[in-house]
Amino acid sequence: MDTARNAALETLYAEVRACTHCPLHAGRANAVPGAGPLDAEIMFIGEAPGFHEDQQGIPFVGAAGQYLSELLAGIGVDRTRVYIANVIKCRPPGNRDPLDEEVAACEPFLNRQMEIIRPKIVVTLGRHSMARAFPNDKISLVHGQARRVNEVIYFPMYHPAAALHRPSLKTDVEADFQRLRELLDGKWEAEIYRALPAAEQLSLF
Ligand code: SF4
Repeated sequence: MDTARNAALETLYAEVRACTHCPLHAGRANAVPGAGPLDAEIMFIGEAPGFHEDQQGIPFVGAAGQYLSELLAGIGVDRTRVYIANVIKCRPPGNRDPLDEEVAACEPFLNRQMEIIRPKIVVTLGRHSMARAFPNDKISLVHGQARRVNEVIYFPMYHPAAALHRPSLKTDVEADFQRLRELLDGKWEAEIYRALPAAEQLSLF
Protein backbone atom coordinates (compact mmCIF):
# COMPACT_ATOMS: atom_id res chain seq x y z
CA MET A 1 0.00 0.00 0.00
CA ASP A 2 2.75 2.43 0.99
CA THR A 3 4.61 1.40 -2.16
CA ALA A 4 1.66 2.57 -4.24
CA ARG A 5 1.39 5.83 -2.28
CA ASN A 6 5.11 6.43 -2.60
CA ALA A 7 4.89 5.82 -6.35
CA ALA A 8 1.95 8.23 -6.54
CA LEU A 9 3.98 10.89 -4.73
CA GLU A 10 7.01 10.39 -6.99
CA THR A 11 4.76 10.63 -10.04
CA LEU A 12 3.27 13.84 -8.69
CA TYR A 13 6.75 15.30 -8.08
CA ALA A 14 7.78 14.45 -11.64
CA GLU A 15 4.64 16.10 -13.02
CA VAL A 16 5.24 19.24 -10.96
CA ARG A 17 8.84 19.49 -12.17
CA ALA A 18 7.67 19.24 -15.79
CA CYS A 19 4.55 21.39 -15.35
CA THR A 20 3.82 24.28 -17.72
CA HIS A 21 0.22 24.89 -16.64
CA CYS A 22 0.79 28.52 -15.68
CA PRO A 23 3.30 31.20 -16.72
CA LEU A 24 5.39 30.77 -13.55
CA HIS A 25 7.14 27.79 -15.09
CA ALA A 26 9.06 30.12 -17.40
CA GLY A 27 10.92 31.89 -14.60
CA ARG A 28 11.72 29.02 -12.29
CA ALA A 29 15.12 27.50 -11.66
CA ASN A 30 13.37 24.58 -10.00
CA ALA A 31 9.81 23.69 -9.18
CA VAL A 32 9.31 22.94 -5.49
CA PRO A 33 6.85 20.05 -5.16
CA GLY A 34 7.08 19.41 -1.41
CA ALA A 35 9.09 17.46 1.14
CA GLY A 36 8.48 15.09 3.99
CA PRO A 37 7.66 11.51 4.86
CA LEU A 38 4.69 9.62 3.48
CA ASP A 39 3.41 8.87 6.99
CA ALA A 40 3.55 12.46 8.26
CA GLU A 41 0.63 13.26 10.56
CA ILE A 42 1.12 17.02 10.23
CA MET A 43 1.22 18.86 6.92
CA PHE A 44 2.33 22.50 6.69
CA ILE A 45 1.12 24.45 3.68
CA GLY A 46 2.87 27.70 2.88
CA GLU A 47 2.38 30.11 0.04
CA ALA A 48 5.02 29.83 -2.71
CA PRO A 49 8.74 29.18 -3.11
CA GLY A 50 11.11 32.07 -2.53
CA PHE A 51 14.61 32.62 -3.92
CA HIS A 52 16.39 29.88 -1.97
CA GLU A 53 13.59 27.37 -2.44
CA ASP A 54 13.63 28.03 -6.18
CA GLN A 55 17.41 27.53 -6.25
CA GLN A 56 17.29 24.24 -4.33
CA GLY A 57 13.89 22.83 -5.28
CA ILE A 58 13.09 22.28 -1.58
CA PRO A 59 10.41 24.11 0.46
CA PHE A 60 11.23 26.40 3.39
CA VAL A 61 15.03 26.45 3.17
CA GLY A 62 15.51 30.23 3.44
CA ALA A 63 15.23 32.46 6.49
CA ALA A 64 11.54 31.66 6.96
CA GLY A 65 12.36 27.97 6.73
CA GLN A 66 15.06 28.32 9.35
CA TYR A 67 12.57 30.08 11.61
CA LEU A 68 10.00 27.34 10.98
CA SER A 69 12.58 24.72 11.96
CA GLU A 70 13.31 26.63 15.18
CA LEU A 71 9.61 26.94 15.99
CA LEU A 72 9.11 23.21 15.45
CA ALA A 73 12.14 22.33 17.55
CA GLY A 74 10.81 24.65 20.26
CA ILE A 75 7.73 22.47 20.64
CA GLY A 76 9.65 19.22 20.35
CA VAL A 77 8.65 18.38 16.77
CA ASP A 78 11.34 17.05 14.44
CA ARG A 79 11.01 18.83 11.10
CA THR A 80 11.86 15.63 9.27
CA ARG A 81 8.62 14.11 10.62
CA VAL A 82 6.30 16.70 9.05
CA TYR A 83 5.29 17.18 5.43
CA ILE A 84 5.78 20.64 3.95
CA ALA A 85 4.28 21.98 0.75
CA ASN A 86 3.15 25.26 -0.78
CA VAL A 87 -0.04 26.41 -2.44
CA ILE A 88 1.88 27.01 -5.65
CA LYS A 89 5.01 25.16 -6.65
CA CYS A 90 6.96 27.72 -8.69
CA ARG A 91 8.39 31.04 -7.51
CA PRO A 92 6.43 34.17 -8.46
CA PRO A 93 8.70 36.94 -9.78
CA GLY A 94 10.04 39.14 -7.00
CA ASN A 95 8.20 36.99 -4.45
CA ARG A 96 4.93 38.76 -5.26
CA ASP A 97 1.65 37.29 -4.06
CA PRO A 98 0.34 34.40 -6.16
CA LEU A 99 -2.38 35.34 -8.64
CA ASP A 100 -5.76 33.64 -8.44
CA GLU A 101 -5.23 31.95 -11.78
CA GLU A 102 -1.84 30.60 -10.66
CA VAL A 103 -3.39 29.20 -7.50
CA ALA A 104 -6.18 27.61 -9.54
CA ALA A 105 -3.72 26.10 -12.03
CA CYS A 106 -1.63 24.56 -9.25
CA GLU A 107 -4.49 23.47 -7.01
CA PRO A 108 -4.80 19.91 -8.37
CA PHE A 109 -1.24 19.15 -7.24
CA LEU A 110 -1.96 20.18 -3.66
CA ASN A 111 -5.24 18.29 -3.68
CA ARG A 112 -3.40 15.15 -4.75
CA GLN A 113 -0.71 15.69 -2.08
CA MET A 114 -3.44 15.88 0.54
CA GLU A 115 -4.96 12.65 -0.73
CA ILE A 116 -1.61 10.82 -0.75
CA ILE A 117 -0.24 12.04 2.60
CA ARG A 118 -3.60 11.97 4.44
CA PRO A 119 -2.46 14.24 7.28
CA LYS A 120 -4.40 14.41 10.52
CA ILE A 121 -3.49 18.06 11.06
CA VAL A 122 -3.04 20.67 8.34
CA VAL A 123 -1.28 23.84 9.44
CA THR A 124 -1.89 26.64 6.97
CA LEU A 125 0.86 29.27 6.93
CA GLY A 126 -0.31 32.69 5.79
CA ARG A 127 -3.52 33.98 4.31
CA HIS A 128 -3.18 32.43 0.85
CA SER A 129 -2.89 28.97 2.30
CA MET A 130 -5.66 29.65 4.82
CA ALA A 131 -7.95 31.06 2.16
CA ARG A 132 -8.23 27.71 0.43
CA ALA A 133 -9.86 26.26 3.51
CA PHE A 134 -11.50 29.33 5.03
CA PRO A 135 -12.11 31.88 2.26
CA ASN A 136 -14.34 34.11 4.36
CA ASP A 137 -12.09 34.44 7.41
CA LYS A 138 -9.40 36.95 8.32
CA ILE A 139 -6.14 35.46 9.51
CA SER A 140 -5.82 38.13 12.20
CA LEU A 141 -9.04 36.78 13.75
CA VAL A 142 -8.66 33.01 13.35
CA HIS A 143 -4.92 32.26 13.65
CA GLY A 144 -4.19 29.72 16.34
CA GLN A 145 -7.73 28.33 16.32
CA ALA A 146 -8.17 24.75 15.19
CA ARG A 147 -11.23 23.47 13.40
CA ARG A 148 -12.09 19.97 12.46
CA VAL A 149 -13.50 19.44 9.01
CA ASN A 150 -14.43 15.87 8.25
CA GLU A 151 -11.45 13.89 9.55
CA VAL A 152 -8.85 16.64 9.28
CA ILE A 153 -7.98 19.34 11.80
CA TYR A 154 -7.05 22.67 10.23
CA PHE A 155 -4.87 25.07 12.17
CA PRO A 156 -4.24 28.49 10.57
CA MET A 157 -1.13 30.46 11.46
CA TYR A 158 0.68 33.51 10.16
CA HIS A 159 3.42 32.73 7.66
CA PRO A 160 6.85 32.66 9.38
CA ALA A 161 8.12 35.15 6.78
CA ALA A 162 5.45 37.62 7.89
CA ALA A 163 6.77 37.40 11.44
CA LEU A 164 10.33 38.02 10.21
CA HIS A 165 9.17 41.13 8.36
CA ARG A 166 6.89 42.31 11.17
CA PRO A 167 8.49 41.36 14.48
CA SER A 168 5.28 42.34 16.29
CA LEU A 169 3.75 39.14 14.86
CA LYS A 170 6.40 36.93 16.47
CA THR A 171 4.54 36.84 19.77
CA ASP A 172 1.42 35.54 18.01
CA VAL A 173 3.37 33.00 15.95
CA GLU A 174 5.21 31.63 18.96
CA ALA A 175 2.01 31.47 21.02
CA ASP A 176 0.29 29.63 18.17
CA PHE A 177 3.08 27.07 18.10
CA GLN A 178 2.54 26.50 21.81
CA ARG A 179 -1.15 25.94 21.05
CA LEU A 180 -0.14 23.52 18.32
CA ARG A 181 1.86 21.61 20.94
CA GLU A 182 -1.25 21.49 23.13
CA LEU A 183 -3.28 20.33 20.14
CA LEU A 184 -0.79 17.52 19.52
CA ASP A 185 -1.08 16.61 23.18
CA GLY A 186 -4.88 16.38 22.87
CA LYS A 187 -5.49 19.17 25.37
CA TRP A 188 -8.39 20.93 23.66
CA GLU A 189 -10.21 18.41 21.57
CA ALA A 190 -13.65 19.53 22.75
CA GLU A 191 -12.99 23.02 21.42
CA ILE A 192 -11.89 21.90 17.98
CA TYR A 193 -14.39 19.14 17.38
CA ARG A 194 -16.88 21.61 16.03
CA ALA A 195 -17.78 21.05 12.40
CA LEU A 196 -17.94 23.94 9.99
CA PRO A 197 -21.20 24.81 8.29
CA ALA A 198 -21.69 22.67 5.19
CA ALA A 199 -21.27 25.66 2.86
CA GLU A 200 -17.72 26.25 4.11
CA GLN A 201 -16.81 22.59 3.83
CA LEU A 202 -17.36 22.69 0.09
CA SER A 203 -14.21 24.67 -0.58
CA LEU A 204 -11.84 22.47 1.35
CA PHE A 205 -8.72 20.77 0.07
FE1 SF4 B 1 2.62 24.29 -12.83
FE2 SF4 B 1 2.07 25.10 -10.37
FE3 SF4 B 1 4.42 25.69 -11.45
FE4 SF4 B 1 2.23 26.88 -12.35
S1 SF4 B 1 3.08 27.11 -10.28
S2 SF4 B 1 3.85 25.98 -13.62
S3 SF4 B 1 0.69 25.24 -12.16
S4 SF4 B 1 3.67 23.64 -10.96
